[in-house]
Amino acid sequence: MKKTISQALTVLCAGIVTFSAHAQDKKYPDPEPMSPGMSEWWQPQPPIVTPGTATDAGSTTAPSDAIILFDGKNLDQWQKPNGEAPEWIVKDGVFTVKPGTGEIRTKQEFGDFQLHIEWRVPEDVQGESQGRGNSGVFLQGIYEIQILDNYNNETYSNGQAGSIYKQSRPLVNAMRKPGEWNVYDIIYEAPTFKKDGTYRTPPRVTVLQNGIILQNNTAIIGTTEYVGFPRVFPHGNGPISLQDHGNPISFRNVWIREL
Ligand code: MG
Repeated sequence: MKKTISQALTVLCAGIVTFSAHAQDKKYPDPEPMSPGMSEWWQPQPPIVTPGTATDAGSTTAPSDAIILFDGKNLDQWQKPNGEAPEWIVKDGVFTVKPGTGEIRTKQEFGDFQLHIEWRVPEDVQGESQGRGNSGVFLQGIYEIQILDNYNNETYSNGQAGSIYKQSRPLVNAMRKPGEWNVYDIIYEAPTFKKDGTYRTPPRVTVLQNGIILQNNTAIIGTTEYVGFPRVFPHGNGPISLQDHGNPISFRNVWIREL
């Protein structure tokens, strides 16, 4: 009897091997390779709204319960991804991307939060489209809210300032002129996950630029890829990361409130 079962299993296994071999032999077409342009949407362009004039140089001090991420003196709250000290330049109460030295991220990690960050693109305009005044704020180190000089600078709308990069265009274009300070206030709700690693509730984000709403509790559908579709993977709390895209973007008055 034992022998019979063993023989039957052998035949069955041989059958499976033969079947899978046949399945592997069959040729199916590969997907077309992705290119950057396949996820760049140019129309409609966000309408231009002129922000209110800053009456006090545009800056507001942090509220009493905020965690100060930059107080104008040093980058002690920040590090490179490898844990080393950032090489970005701190001068006159402002810090500036040192191109080529890579992103920086907060040492502390966050879940739900309210983030205030002020940023400035150089007055001396160089480049165009995505090559002009590009940086970004990565929520939990993963999801990019675009920083870009979109003042008289068209680019694909889902890559403009205040876009969830290559996912959701901003409602309007609320840029101040190059050399002037812009303010982002970002309210973020972290995702929750099912056992299979997909979102039970997606991350959600509200973004205001210079007091004007650009993202209104928008659901984030996954990672913000340059090439390809958004991906979803389970994660916990993460840092605030700032992008080195090769442009000398400056920042000041950065604070966060955990929610
Ligand atoms: Mg960017």
